[in-house]
Amino acid sequence: MAKIIRDLKLANKTVLIRCDFNVPFKGEVISDDNRIQAALPTVKFALDAGAKVVLFSHLGKVKHKGTEEEVAADKAKNNMIIVFRRLAEILGKDKVFFSPETSGDEVNKRVAALKPGQVLLLQNTRYEKGEEKNDPALSEKWASFADVFVMDAFGSAHRAHASTVGVPELLKARGKEVALGFLVEKEVEALGRVVHVAKKDRPYIAVIGGFKVSDKIKVIETLLQKCDKVLIGGAMAYTFQVAQGKNIGISPFEPDQVDFAKKCLATAGDKILLPVDAVVTDAFQNWTKKVTTTGSDIPDGFEGMDIGPKTQKLFAKELSKAKMIFWNGPMGVFEQKDFEAGTRAVCEAVSKLKGAFTVIGGGDSAAAVAQFGYKEYFSHVSTGGGASLEMIENDGHLPGIDVIK
Ligand code: ADP
Ligand code: MG
Repeated sequence: MAKIIRDLKLANKTVLIRCDFNVPFKGEVISDDNRIQAALPTVKFALDAGAKVVLFSHLGKVKHKGTEEEVAADKAKNNMIIVFRRLAEILGKDKVFFSPETSGDEVNKRVAALKPGQVLLLQNTRYEKGEEKNDPALSEKWASFADVFVMDAFGSAHRAHASTVGVPELLKARGKEVALGFLVEKEVEALGRVVHVAKKDRPYIAVIGGFKVSDKIKVIETLLQKCDKVLIGGAMAYTFQVAQGKNIGISPFEPDQVDFAKKCLATAGDKILLPVDAVVTDAFQNWTKKVTTTGSDIPDGFEGMDIGPKTQKLFAKELSKAKMIFWNGPMGVFEQKDFEAGTRAVCEAVSKLKGAFTVIGGGDSAAAVAQFGYKEYFSHVSTGGGASLEMIENDGHLPGIDVIK
């Protein structure tokens, strides 16, 4: 078992915490500070314990393959200073400092000047070319000043980068302590339950939607094995409907995934539940006609935008029997009011359950649930979309978490 930050003595130690501060933002304005809020329990614990706290995270993408100008533009666009400003607002301006550098002498000086109870936030880890390559020389720079490493970036735990895997490997080899933070602890507990299924959690139902089958092949295969029912909606349902020989009009589908869908339908049989009707339009954008189909076939010249009312009822009825639910991917184009009803109906069905364990993994699904005001009805809304899916696919394993064990 991995150690948790609460097991460690942190007074006067330099504690390096990998956070997930990869927040959505426009210009210099953070549009959702959820990930910063989610990091606070661990950061505050370290501060209260009298640690000198160093935080680091990636933010957005910096493509190091481009020209010097392109790299500089990426860096300017993804400057961690926006997170620093928010963090200073929350924790107090006198406590939080910013390092415009990610590593090297300047960082070492700033770390050396830190007092217990103070925080230093480093610049975006992806400013470093070696971050995504898990470059040992870069890991060494970060490991050199840390007494303790804490992994609290669940959203990055599926990536073996220098800041997630390289640093703790080095520190472990030197006999230093490494641990998980409270956010990762919570994620591992909740997602662990949907991975290693207990009898009391059955019937276990998965709801899968979103755009592409190809993004989620492995997770679909895994959930078909683990679950008692798998409800499929969203655009990905059309690939399954093509596999059944249905007409899908001009709906998006993936020709190269039809065989995969056929194989799923053949092996899983009636474990898979597909839409029985749809809300369809004559175009994705600037549509002029909107119709609800009476069956699962979609007429020529129309494309599916959401599951229809019969499907909503069918899915809600199934979900009412569930003891455990894992949900990834919206049922329709929920970003537009005309096509949000299907996704809303799943929220509604979950909100009526008593005592069921309900988990959401997926950036857009989590955004939809928050947008509709149903977040509190779920047992757990994961902060990591990709990480939560990979954890399910890999039987509970993620490189950034396994390295702490
Ligand atoms: P998540 O982030 O929860 O894993 P995805 O990224 O896979 O979900 O999919 C989310 C996207 O799928 C949303 O932007 C939504 O508009 C889109 N989508 C869902 N249903 C449809 C549909 N019928 N046609 C087009 N796009 C759809
Ligand atoms: Mg998404």
